[in-house]
Amino acid sequence: MASRSTSEVDVLIVGAGPAGLMMALWMSRLGIKTRIVDKRTDKVFSGQADGGFFLEPRLQWGHQAQRARPGQHQRLVALHRVGAPPGAHGGLLPGRHRGVVPHPADPSGSPLKVERMVLPTSLEVDEAAAEDDDAHPVTVTLRHLTEAEATPTQKLSNLSDGLFRSNLAGDDVGAMLAQSKGRADVREEVVKAKYVVGCDGAHSWTRKALGPKYEMKGEMTDFVWGVMDIVPITDFRKCSPALVIKSPDSTDETHLLLFQERMANLKTADVRTRCMIHSASNGSLMIIPRENRLVRLYIQLTEVSTGGRVDRSTISHEMIFKAAQKIISPYKLEYHYCDWWTAYQIGQRVGSHFSKCDRVFLAGDAVHTHSPKAGQGMNVSMSDAYNLGWKIGLVAKKIMPRKILSTYELERKQIANELIEFDHKFSRLFSGRPQKDILDETGVSMEEFSKAFNMSHMFTSGLGVNYSPSALVCKPPEEALLLESDKEVQNEGSPVAKSKLSAATHCKPGMRFPSYQVVEQCDARQWTLHHKMPSDGRFRLWVFGGDISQAAARDRVNALGARLEQGVLARAPRLELGPAANPFAGTARFRLDRAPSVVDVLLVHRAPRAAVELLRDLHDVYHPFDAKLGWDYDKVFADGESYHEGHGRAYEGYGVDPERGAVVVVRPDGYVGLVTELGEESWGEIEKYFEEVLRMA
Ligand code: FAD
Repeated sequence: MASRSTSEVDVLIVGAGPAGLMMALWMSRLGIKTRIVDKRTDKVFSGQADGGFFLEPRLQWGHQAQRARPGQHQRLVALHRVGAPPGAHGGLLPGRHRGVVPHPADPSGSPLKVERMVLPTSLEVDEAAAEDDDAHPVTVTLRHLTEAEATPTQKLSNLSDGLFRSNLAGDDVGAMLAQSKGRADVREEVVKAKYVVGCDGAHSWTRKALGPKYEMKGEMTDFVWGVMDIVPITDFRKCSPALVIKSPDSTDETHLLLFQERMANLKTADVRTRCMIHSASNGSLMIIPRENRLVRLYIQLTEVSTGGRVDRSTISHEMIFKAAQKIISPYKLEYHYCDWWTAYQIGQRVGSHFSKCDRVFLAGDAVHTHSPKAGQGMNVSMSDAYNLGWKIGLVAKKIMPRKILSTYELERKQIANELIEFDHKFSRLFSGRPQKDILDETGVSMEEFSKAFNMSHMFTSGLGVNYSPSALVCKPPEEALLLESDKEVQNEGSPVAKSKLSAATHCKPGMRFPSYQVVEQCDARQWTLHHKMPSDGRFRLWVFGGDISQAAARDRVNALGARLEQGVLARAPRLELGPAANPFAGTARFRLDRAPSVVDVLLVHRAPRAAVELLRDLHDVYHPFDAKLGWDYDKVFADGESYHEGHGRAYEGYGVDPERGAVVVVRPDGYVGLVTELGEESWGEIEKYFEEVLRMA
C-alpha cells in the first residue's frame, strides 16, 4: 500500500557526491538540521574524481607527502604530488574520497547518514515566503526506491564500469521512476525545507525541476576520452624529459612529457610516475598512479566518431585499451586486472543561474562541467559547497542576513566561468597534436602544455581564486574602481568597508589567507595559523600588534581590544557550534558556559615571547574568560624563533610592517574579507564590515 508522510528540515541536500558530502559536513559542523539523499545504493563506489584536494584529518592516507613551504599551505591538501601548488603538503591515495570527506553528525550528535535509494520527484518554491526567516518555503516529494530500482545496469557482469554516470549516457531518473511506478508498497514523503541544495551531478534533477530558465550554457567538444583503472604490465620507462622516441617499426613518434620529473629535477620515470604522453597521431594518454598497484589511464579515443553526441554502445574497455597500447607504443602495455572503466565526452558548460530565490541552490557538476583530467571537477565542486555551506548555516541560524546568500552565485559563477575559459585552452592542449618543430603552428608545444598544466593547479587548489567585491570581500577603493559592477564600494561614505592593502601587502581581499608559522605565547608550541582557524563557521579577526613589549604598541593593541569588547564583540551574535565542530562535544564536564562569539579575535605580536605576560599585559579580548573553563590562553602568538622548527617570519609573509601593525578579517571559509590598519582611524572600517555581514544586536 502506497504511503506518504510530511516532515520539516532546515536543509535538504540532493546527491551525496563530493559536493553533497562537503555540504553535509558544513551543516553538521554548524549544527543545522539536515537530510542528505542519494538515488543510488551504496554499492556504486568506484571511479571518477581521483585527482583531488581533501580535508586535512585524513592525511594518514597520503601517498606522497611534500614539505610545505610555510605561508602557503592551505587547509586543503593535494592528492597528487605532481604539480601540486607550492605549499600543498600531503597526498592522498586516489579513489579514497568517499571515505575521506565527512563524518557528519546531526545537531544531536548522531551520525548524519546519507539516505540512499531516495529520489526526489517534485520540487516547489513558495516565492512569497522566500524572505521569511522562519518559513520552510521549499516543498520536495521524495520517493524511496528498492535496491533493484536504484542499481545501475553495467555493461559486463564481472567488471564495473562508470558509463551510467558518464555524460555519454542519458539521465536514468525516468527509468527509475518508471520501474517503481506500479509498485504497491511504494513509499513517498513530503519534505518542507528552508533550503535545498542540488548536488546531483551533471544530469541534475534539481536543476531541471527549477524550470527551463535553469539551463546549461556552453558546448560539447569533439574530444572523447576513455578511463581505465588497471594493474599494468609494461616496460614503459624513460630517462629524460620531453624525449621524442622513434618507433622502430613505424614512422610514428611518441612525445613524452614528465612534469613530475621536471618539477623534482629527477631524470627517470616509469608507469608509477604521473605523466602525460602525446603521440604524434594516435592521441594522448595520461598516467596517474593509484593504490594497490593500480594505475589510472586517461586515454584519448581518436577513432571514436566525433562531431556530435557519441553513441556509448560503440565503446568497450577493449577498444579503449587498444587505443592506449597504440599511444604508448613502442613500449608494451598489457594487464590482467581491470578495476573499473568508463568513457566521457568533454563538455564545457556553466549553469545560467546558481540559485532560485536564494532558497534552492545548485552546486558542483549540477552547474558546471568541464574536462576531468586536471582534477578540477571534484575540487571545484567541493569548493562550491565549501563556499555555500557556512553561508546557509549562518543564515539559517539567523547570524547573517539573508542577503549574504547572493554572494554564492556572485563568487562561484565567476570561478566556474574562469575555469571553463581555462579548460577550453587546456583540453585543446591535452587532446591536440604535438608540435613537430617550432615552425609547426597548429601543433601543441610542450612548453605551452607544461605552463597550462601548472596553471591548472591554481584552480585545483583554490589558490588562484580571487572573489569579486561584495559585503564579504572589501577591496581597496583603487581596486574596486576597476570593477564596473562595484558601484557601492566606490562611493565615499558607503556602508561597505574598504580595505587598505598597504597594511598587509600579501593578504588580498577575496583570496585565501596565507598560513605562516608562529609560536604560541603560552606554551611555545609552533603552529601555522590555519591550524587556529578550524572550519566552524567563525570569522577570524587577526590582529598584528607589532612589538607589544613596547608601551606604545601594547597600548594600541589594548585600545583596539577595548573598542572590540564594547562594539563588535558586544553586538555580534554568538555561535552555538554543532557537535562535529565543538571541541568539547561529548565531554559534558568541559562545556563552555556561553557559546563563543561568531567573531574570533587572535593576536600575532612581534615582541620577544618572554617579554610578554598574557594576563598582565593584554586586554581580555585576547584571552577571553569563560565562567566554566576560565581564561582561554590559545589566542596569542609570537612571530619568533621556535625551539625546533625555525622562525616562521610571519610578518614578512603577510607583508605587515611591525611598526604599523595590521588587522585582517578572514571569512569562515579562509578567504580574506578585510585588510586594514591597527590604529584608531581604521576601527570604523572593522565595525562597518561586521555591520554588513552579521545581524548585530
Ligand atoms: P557527482 O559526483 O556526480 O555526484 C552526484 C551525486 O548525486 C551522485 O552520488 C548521484 O548518485 C546523486 N544523484 C544524481 N541524481 C540524483 C537524483 N535525482 N536524486 C538523488 N541523487 C541523485 N574530478 C577531479 O577533481 N579529479 C579527477 O581525477 C576526476 N576524474 C574524473 C573522471 C571521469 C571519468 C569523470 C566522468 C569525471 C571526473 N572528475 C574528476 C569529475 C568529478 O567526478 C566530478 O566533477 C565530481 O564528482 C562532481 O561532484 P558532484 O558532487 O557535483 O557530482
